[in-house]
Formats: sequence, C-alpha cells, structure tokens
Amino acid sequence: MSGINYLYPEFEVVRRDERCIRCRVCERQCANEVHRFDPERDMLISDESKCVNCQRCVSLCPTRALKIVRSDCRLRENANWDGDTIREVYKQAASGGVLLSSMGNPKPLPVYWDKLLINASQVTNPSIDPLREPMETRVFLGKKPEKVSRDGNGKLCTELSPQLELSLPVMFSAMSYGSISYNAHASLARAATELGTYYNTGEGGLHEDFYRYGPHTIVQVASGRFGVHEDFLEAGAAIEIKMGQGAKPGIGGHLPGAKVGPDVSRTRMIPEGSDAISPAPHHDIYSIEDLRQLVWSLKEATEHRKPVIVKVAAVHNIAAIASGIARSGADIIAIDGFRGGTGAAPTRIRDHVGIPIELALAAVDQRLRDEGIRNSVSLVVGGSIRSAADVVKAVALGADACYIATAALLAMGCHLCRSCHTGKCNWGIATQRPDLARRLNPEVGSERLVNLMTAWRREIMELMGGMGINSVEALRGNRLMLRGVGLTEKELEILGISHAGE
Ligand code: SF4
Ligand code: SF4
Repeated sequence: MSGINYLYPEFEVVRRDERCIRCRVCERQCANEVHRFDPERDMLISDESKCVNCQRCVSLCPTRALKIVRSDCRLRENANWDGDTIREVYKQAASGGVLLSSMGNPKPLPVYWDKLLINASQVTNPSIDPLREPMETRVFLGKKPEKVSRDGNGKLCTELSPQLELSLPVMFSAMSYGSISYNAHASLARAATELGTYYNTGEGGLHEDFYRYGPHTIVQVASGRFGVHEDFLEAGAAIEIKMGQGAKPGIGGHLPGAKVGPDVSRTRMIPEGSDAISPAPHHDIYSIEDLRQLVWSLKEATEHRKPVIVKVAAVHNIAAIASGIARSGADIIAIDGFRGGTGAAPTRIRDHVGIPIELALAAVDQRLRDEGIRNSVSLVVGGSIRSAADVVKAVALGADACYIATAALLAMGCHLCRSCHTGKCNWGIATQRPDLARRLNPEVGSERLVNLMTAWRREIMELMGGMGINSVEALRGNRLMLRGVGLTEKELEILGISHAGE
C-alpha cells in the first residue's frame, strides 16, 4: 500500500501528432523533463506527473502542436474537501514535511481592489485631457516638513529630509539575487534606471556588477544580514529594513543551498551550497526603541543622506505597528499585503496569515492622520498590485507609491506556474541554473518592464484626468474618488469610503 501514488497528475499534455514535426524543442526546453523522444516509436512521449504547466513548451512549439490542460480526472471532492486540500493531505502523508509554495496566496479571499470603483468628472469640475494638458506622475518619498519657508528670492530655505524621486508611483519590490537569476536582476536594474524609479535587492546583497545602478537601487537589510556591509549600504539610494513580508509574516526566509552557487555565495557572504536561512526576528529588535536604534545606525553609517524604509507584513494590528514605525525615525513605511509573492514559503503561512493590503493601507493612513504624523513618513504598499487601476485606487486610499513584483515577473515572461522554489524556472527567472538563466535576455526583460510601466503611467494619467486631477500628489488619500460595491458597512468603514450610489 505504501507504494501507491495517490496523486494523479494535475495537468495533461495534449500533443496533436499530425502537427508534431519531431523537432524536440519541448524535450530540450522542459527543465522538468516531461517530454522524451522515443526513437523506436518515432514520437515524443510525456511524463505528465512532472509538469507544472509553465507553458514554456506550448509557447515555443513551432507548429502549435501542444497544449497543457488541467486534468479532468477528479478526486472525490465535495464542498468541504476540495481537490487541493485532499492532495495536500496525500503529500504530507507521504513526506511528513511542511508544504512549500511559491508566489502569492491563491485562496478565493476578497480582492478589495475589484470592489472599489473610481470616480470620473461629468459636467462640473471638468475632466483633464492628459494628451493636451500637463499631468504630474512624479512622487517624492520621504519625510515632509510641516511647513516650508522661502527666502526673498523664492528659494527654499527649509532643510528637506532625503527623498526618493519616482517618475511614476511604482517601484519594483524586493526580490533577492538567489531567489531570482542574475539576468532577472539585471532586467529590473536597467528598467528602474531607464524609468526613473527603483528596484530592490531583497535580502540577497548586491552583486558587484550592479553597483553602477546604485542611484536606482534600494538595498535591503533583513534579519539574516546577508551581504550587508559598508559599500552595500553606501551603494543604494535608500536602505530598507525588512521586518516582514506579506507572503510569510512572522517567519524568516529560506534559500535552498542548491541555489547558492559561487556568485550568490560571494554576494551573500555565505558558504557555497549552504542553505541561507534568515531568522524570523531581527535578533537585535524586540521593540520600537530597538528598531529606532537600527534606523539611526543605518542613517549614521550613511551620514543621513539616504531615506530609511521599514517594510512590514500587513497583520492584524498594522495601524498601531505603523504608528510605532513612523516614530522610529523611518522615512518610509512599506506594507506588504497577504497576497504578496515569494520565491518560497510554507503553504500554510502563505495562505492563512496576514490581512489584505487594501484594509491595512486604509487603516494605517487613517491612524497616521488621526495622530498628526502622516507627513512624517511616506507609505508604499505592495502585495498584488496588478494594474494601473490598482495603483490609482491605492493612491486614493492613501498610498504614496506601490511596490510591484509578480506583475514585473510576468512582464519578464513568468507564467505563474508557482514552482519558483524548485529552482527549475523554465523562463530563466527564478533559477540559478546557467542553462535556464540565459533564457532571459536582460535587454528584452528590461524593455518589457519599461513598456509595462510606460503603459501604466499613461493609464494612470488617463484615470486621473477623468477625475479632473492632474497630479498623483493631489490624488493621494482622496477617498472621495472611490466607491465600494458589494461591501459590508464594516468594510466600508475601514476603507473610509461610501458605497456606490451614495
Ligand atoms: S513543465 Fe512546462 S515545459 Fe514542461 S511540459 Fe509542463 S508546460 Fe511544458
Ligand atoms: S518565476 Fe518561473 S518558476 Fe516562478 S512562477 Fe514564474 S515561471 Fe514559474
């Protein structure tokens, strides 16, 4: 009985033999070794149990002979026991291990962005045509002074805290070199530079080749302190302390030793082949006062020239946590919602811990306003920002800018197969295998990222123009521009918006 494999393959490879020219592209392209040429039968055969539905073979098959479909062989599911839950029990009964997953929470929990609708001007307060009139999508992140003063010539005399200047209210979120490939990092770094925004090293340090992108780099200090040294801190435009991550609140990070090759090992300053496990807490932070000391130390180390970001996961008492962070001296708070992606996280944590970013953002913005400290920090939110509309809604709810990661990976070719933790990303993104990593051309990757952000910027301008608003700054926290649909009184209250029709 122990030898029985209870798991029927999730996907089926459908091959139209009359179209197949035996070019064997699929066999070469699949790192999961699903396809194999059988010379005796002169045909390609498939081991579907290994397929993760990454669509690489489908996309590259020159005759469109392939398609991958979800298997219609069903387990005996019911409303309580769905197929995934049954499969997970079988997997754990076989392995005795914690289940690992990649990317964000896939559960059918509410996506509040889709329950928020944006206003548009009609008759009075006319809309603005972004093609003919100036529109400002630039934002500046960092502490803002309570008031500014100018000298007799109109020159600013107020000393400003260090600011990050973004050409649009979007940055690329933290993804470490190690969890993603060198070429993926190169794509993000080049695109951020070209766009006038920032990418983020994540907790993996900064590869020596990327120091030249420093003015558009946010360097991250996480609990493992991998790759953190003076030059690293000095290289970035801002420093981010990672206290938490939306996909795995309350736990540390884990990069399997198999992904720690010579380059990653040098960058992280850890031995080759060793697992990079960052602890759940920072071992020197147990209070806001401790956090304040780290914020201060990092500012001292960089002569107070760089803003410090504190990143936290959206959890139950996030408003109080953010209030403490704002008082720790941080310049920017980054909040990561429960749908945020990851290269690897325990499935139970990813799917059951944390709260939606929309509710967290509204609660934090309101709390900081109520306490009169909203201007002492900027708010950046992430955790499944999927489009320009999500960005506009986030800004209207109170965000200064958004972090995107999954959308950026999609732009580079990711097909959301959710198997980054295996290290066998067929699209050359979440892998360190040289043969796979070279599939992503950084020139193409960065061009596609620039295209995506250019398109979003245009859409942001159109949406703002429709509202009669000509700058992102003017939209920030303007919740009158939002209405809810299908939300309860409590949800509307937390979001601080009215229901559609009101
Ligand atoms: S894992 Fe990807 S490349 Fe391999 S068979 Fe499945 S879809 Fe095709
Ligand atoms: S990065 Fe690669 S492995 Fe991860 S979900 Fe995307 S395609 Fe799959």
